[in-house]
Amino acid sequence: MSAKFVQIAIPVPMRQLFTYLVPEAISAAGITIGSRLIVPFGARQVIGIALELSDECELDTSKLKSVISKVDDNYHFDSKLLTFLRSCASYYHHPLGDVLQQALPVLLRQVEQPEVSPTMQWHSAELKTAPKDIKALEDKIAALHKRAAKQASLYELIASHNGMSWPELRTLGFSKAQLNALLEKALIVEQPATIETFSWHEDCLNESNKLALNVEQSVVVSAIKQCHNAYSCHLIDGVTGSGKTEVYLQSIEEVLSQNQQVLILVPEIGLTPQTLSRFEQRFNVPIYLHHSGLNDKERLDTWLSAQRGSAGIIIGTRSAIFTPLHKLGLIIVDEEHDGSFKQQDSFRYHGRDMAILRARQLDIPILLGSATPSLETLQNALSGKYHYHQLKKRAGNSKQAKISLVDVANQPTEFGLTAPIKSAIKQTLAKNEQVLLFLNRRGYAPAVNCKECHWVADCNRCNKSYTLHQKQQLLICHHCGSQKRIPMQCPSCGSARLAPLGQGTEQLEEKIGELFEQASVVRIDRDSTRRKGALAKLLQEIADNEHQLLIGTQMLAKGHHFPNVTLVVMLDIDGALFSYDFRAAEQMAQLLVQVAGRAGRASKPGRVLVQTNFPDHPLLQDLVNNGYHHFARQSLTERQQALLPPFTFQALLRAEANYPSYPEKFIRELTQYQFDGCELAGPIPAAMEKKAGKFRFHLLIQSKSRSQLHRGIMQLLACIEQTELQKKVRWSIDIDPVDLSW
Ligand code: ADP
Ligand code: ZN
Ligand code: ZN
Repeated sequence: MSAKFVQIAIPVPMRQLFTYLVPEAISAAGITIGSRLIVPFGARQVIGIALELSDECELDTSKLKSVISKVDDNYHFDSKLLTFLRSCASYYHHPLGDVLQQALPVLLRQVEQPEVSPTMQWHSAELKTAPKDIKALEDKIAALHKRAAKQASLYELIASHNGMSWPELRTLGFSKAQLNALLEKALIVEQPATIETFSWHEDCLNESNKLALNVEQSVVVSAIKQCHNAYSCHLIDGVTGSGKTEVYLQSIEEVLSQNQQVLILVPEIGLTPQTLSRFEQRFNVPIYLHHSGLNDKERLDTWLSAQRGSAGIIIGTRSAIFTPLHKLGLIIVDEEHDGSFKQQDSFRYHGRDMAILRARQLDIPILLGSATPSLETLQNALSGKYHYHQLKKRAGNSKQAKISLVDVANQPTEFGLTAPIKSAIKQTLAKNEQVLLFLNRRGYAPAVNCKECHWVADCNRCNKSYTLHQKQQLLICHHCGSQKRIPMQCPSCGSARLAPLGQGTEQLEEKIGELFEQASVVRIDRDSTRRKGALAKLLQEIADNEHQLLIGTQMLAKGHHFPNVTLVVMLDIDGALFSYDFRAAEQMAQLLVQVAGRAGRASKPGRVLVQTNFPDHPLLQDLVNNGYHHFARQSLTERQQALLPPFTFQALLRAEANYPSYPEKFIRELTQYQFDGCELAGPIPAAMEKKAGKFRFHLLIQSKSRSQLHRGIMQLLACIEQTELQKKVRWSIDIDPVDLSW
């Protein structure tokens, strides 16, 4: 279409679109809505997205600047994706230019055109081997099984899934060296990936590992089948091990077989290579990944394959929801309650909520799965807004683990462990089974203090204690990341008696080794898994029974399948019992049930011991005696009485500055206005009043109606424009905030 003016979204923190003149040469060639244009912005050249075209303009056209050039049209936002992204921006009251920018792969944000070399895929050489040479090939494979087990399993994987790509293999824990070894031995061949649109045929399904559904599962699968090709939202509320994944797999099969694509959102991909391999094993269709571990080229590759329709399945973390999809037929959000679906900075969207919005816009079904549904989702399911499916029994023959509370108050402990815990560990080790110790605090100790004068080493940018990292010989602030050497003397009294206070995973790892000398200890947390491939390696060692004591933070709580773990010990969960954040109890309950779900997943029964100072706490009692669902319904009643979400709707305005008076005054000024149907609370100092040197205050906006909340936020934004202080503070709006503490 030829036009004189174009309205462009530009990645700047301003909420308006910018109008540019279209030079004749570009106008003649036509501009597509959603395409990328290079435009001058201040002294820079930036990439903007064309959103509206017109022949008339009310602005003073002599002041307008011209579009410099058009970027290759092959990569542009299609109209459906654009509609979706515009809705996301308006729902979160976030600048559209920034939303579009975040949805675009990094390589497409650059003024320079990326050079896109084809992705390589690997196939078994068997397909290309003449019958007379097959024997020789088989001998080579047999030799591999004897001498290089890892290469052999890589070969088997490639042979059973022709066309695997490097990102998939890496996620499954293989290395480039192993791949190259197979290439050198001529056991596999390399080929550029094909970019035809994927189409379903018999060989796409690996029937052999398809399970016969149990009654509960088949009821769910057929209910979902009924809802094909139209919007419907399903909560699959199934205890850990109840076979939710099998329900996903069979629902996916239905959609793929109609040549439609499937998008699967998971909390963290790198953490659960097992999940990926289950999809790989079932479907012989192109599966693409989207997560932060990919490089820019790999991300672009996923984007393009999804857009062109060559990808059958996309598995990704929250931002995968912005992937363009040629013919999406189903969205699945696994572990829908997981906090990592919510982005906690700049564009604060919730991946699950946007997935529901996208499914509505595309008129397709969406499945939300969890053993511990969020109260928001549960309420929607109970009220009939979502289809509600329950899987109450574990599939296969494993039993749910029993949870017991162990009173630690006034008990003697050794390295933080009471006698009953120690003896349970001992018994488990004696049976050659594994123990998982859950401690959600990495580092050696959460503080260092002086034994003489009780001085504590605090980060003065956050007014919180530094965490001691013994191995690195550093004090690290877990709030702002600042680091410092461990002092030799107390700066307050000069004493040399400085000592760690409290216990983190690093210390537990060291000390427990002294208690159980025969056992091998492994620690899984962000520190021990920083290197690429480290986590996959440790998980493999655990699967191979090389370690008996597994110590971990919440990284170990998610999705893993440890068949030989029969005892789970949870240490130090008490903090959540007395938090002022109304969601802390819900999150603690979810974590407890998820961690407990790691015990006894195979044929051996499991048990869970929770060490607490407050065994009589009603919340713990309810969870242990009545289970998550009783707890959740109880909590919903309480939330309804207290007029809290999901029965009301909230937004949080956060403001921070180098001086405490600025954010406080900024918010106080805003509270002078009235916003229809909205209640305001603030200025409230944030739970962490100071972070990274900045003072932080909140304004909480709450309404009984979502539309009134949105109208209120629009008015609030207009008021902010009027305030003097808006330039002196950094502020942001968080719609449906999940963490009020920061
Ligand atoms: P969830 O995703 O709910 O935690 P999974 O799908 O991982 O559960 O299933 C747990 C275990 O039960 C797996 O080992 C799986 O193979 C097995 N399983 C699932 N469905 C069935 C079934 N219908 N028959 C037999 N075993 C099943
Ligand atoms: Zn001192
Ligand atoms: Zn700090």
